[in-house]
Amino acid sequence: MAPTEEFEIVCPVCKARKRIALPENILNHKNFKFVKIQVSQRICNHTFIVIFDTAKRKIVGSQQIDITLKVSSEEFKSLKKSFSLRRLIYFFGIYGAMCLFHAKIFNYNVKIFSNRFPDEYIDLISDYFNEKIKINNETVISKLDDFYFIKPYILTNLFKDTLILDADKNILNTPWENALDFESELIKNALSIEDQEKRINIISDEIELLFAELNLIINSLKKNSGITKENLYEYIQENFSRSIINQYGISLLEEYLRRNNLKNLLS
Ligand SMILES: [Zn+2]
Repeated sequence: MAPTEEFEIVCPVCKARKRIALPENILNHKNFKFVKIQVSQRICNHTFIVIFDTAKRKIVGSQQIDITLKVSSEEFKSLKKSFSLRRLIYFFGIYGAMCLFHAKIFNYNVKIFSNRFPDEYIDLISDYFNEKIKINNETVISKLDDFYFIKPYILTNLFKDTLILDADKNILNTPWENALDFESELIKNALSIEDQEKRINIISDEIELLFAELNLIINSLKKNSGITKENLYEYIQENFSRSIINQYGISLLEEYLRRNNLKNLLS
């Protein structure tokens, strides 16, 4: 057993509390300021993450994830060889899966830090997003070598825009501030459908719709000068009130503009 240290964890929903042993190697990742740890169902029936400050060595926050799904190792063995949503959740947890979708949509590279995560799975995850879900952008999913941990400043600088996960459902670096409401709803809807094919279709349709709306809004911004960061919300409410962007808040749009160097569309 790897060394652990116990922390009292409180569920953000029902306030149940329990002392949980967290692995030392995660707590000692001082290169990453906030590590997100999924402690689902070890305390109560709620799914949530806790945010651990590695410098202060304490838990500084928690956040409910409104989805519950546990894939057992028996179930995992019976999953098809190709990558599926359940398989992503088996490896990375619900929150990790939400982060992967967010990274793919907003074009952040992904690094998986684990010695025992099989190389061939990396390609399968890439294929899942590129071929099945059909998100066509430059996002690269690859493994993070131990090598980088020798020089912490390289690690932090090189990967500040990279999502870094490990294979124990911990999230070491999230290069965004936004809540993942869109991704949460996406996964929740998908899991309510049993048929594999239909599930993939519903995910890719929803993401395609998001991209279509984003492009529609971007074209409209190109034609309308004078829209500022301050009146963007009003503009979306007036012109795109039924859009996903309006439904989930304009932070989706702001992040998309930022990630695609389109911030100059706002005056
Ligand atoms: Zn609870």
